[in-house]
Amino acid sequence: MLDIAIIGGGPAGLSAGLYTTRGGAKNVVMFERGMPGGQITGSSEIENYPGVKDVLSGFDFMQPWQEQCFRFGLKSEQVNVERVAKKGEHFAIHTDNGDFEARAVIVCTGGSPKRSGVAGEDKYYGRGISTCATCDGFFYKGQHVGVLGGGDTALEEALYLSEICEKVTLFHRRNEFRAAPVTVAKAQSKENIVFKTPTIIDEFLGDSKGLTGIRYTHKDTNQQETLELNGFFVFIGYDVNNQILLQEDGSFLCEMSKFGEVIVDLNMKTNVPGLFVAGDLRIDAAKQVVCAAGDGARAALSALAYLEHHK
Ligand SMILES: Cc1cc2nc3c(=O)[nH]c(=O)nc-3n(C[C@H](O)[C@H](O)[C@H](O)COP(=O)(O)OP(=O)(O)OC[C@H]3O[C@@H](n4cnc5c(N)ncnc54)[C@H](O)[C@@H]3O)c2cc1C
Repeated sequence: MLDIAIIGGGPAGLSAGLYTTRGGAKNVVMFERGMPGGQITGSSEIENYPGVKDVLSGFDFMQPWQEQCFRFGLKSEQVNVERVAKKGEHFAIHTDNGDFEARAVIVCTGGSPKRSGVAGEDKYYGRGISTCATCDGFFYKGQHVGVLGGGDTALEEALYLSEICEKVTLFHRRNEFRAAPVTVAKAQSKENIVFKTPTIIDEFLGDSKGLTGIRYTHKDTNQQETLELNGFFVFIGYDVNNQILLQEDGSFLCEMSKFGEVIVDLNMKTNVPGLFVAGDLRIDAAKQVVCAAGDGARAALSALAYLEHHK
């Protein structure tokens, strides 16, 4: 029987691992299906983690996190977790390499922004194409960027970018937006946000240094055009990795938002005692490494307190 099972080895999971083991929990295992580090390991640079003044690749940035945790006794299993379920007073962790039991569980499986699938996206992703304005908007200070999407995130991020960039051109396949009318109106009133609708992005263009622009089609006229851009932001949705909380009867183990994120309180407690959720998987996540790390630490302290009261 594990004291604490941590599912996911991104910034939230590794921080939870550090705080649980350093806080005295003895039998803590982190279950990670790939290499620990999480989404950020796919990023070519991170420069907004407080206290780290060097610009590092996501991979290099996350490397010491694991070493630090393992020093305090965190164990790890490289397996895919299929489901977490209640088993009497405890939890069952079903993996593709056998089942485990734990007294408390911290789920930190994160998520990932949806990609457009447009030609050239993979080639220039991280080299001009981004899915995070907070992370990468600053790199395009005073420059011209494109934005793809018509929901709240796309319009809000376009507004955010319009404060940093000289010009933001927003592409959307319809003339109508799913975003809240007040947000649309605010974006439309900004002089440096230009709307190109209804349009389809045909191809991302670039050279050996990265993205240089896009080719797109006006749906009304079928006319194709190219536009030079310094950067491009894709905001067409976010997939949360919540599948492991799905039970055999089709219900979720704990309360979820309508967007599939887990509802937690400020202590990262779900409505199921002993089950905690941290990082990008939770409601209102800021989707930043520093926030996921803070969540992981908070969840760990809550899990330690839970074990103390349920000996
Ligand atoms: C390209 C890119 C650039 C970014 N740049 C920045 C930046 O500059 N600054 C910043 O602060 N943030 C940045 N972010 C956001 C940041 O990476 C996330 O907010 C953060 O990683 C979330 O941490 P997390 O631990 O909640 O989840 P994740 O990082 O998503 O980690 C979840 C982990 O759980 C594992 N997992 C999922 N399901 C299972 C399962 N069933 N079984 C076992 N393991 C599982 C995954 O393999 C993964 O390792 C960026 C994100 C991307 C994609």
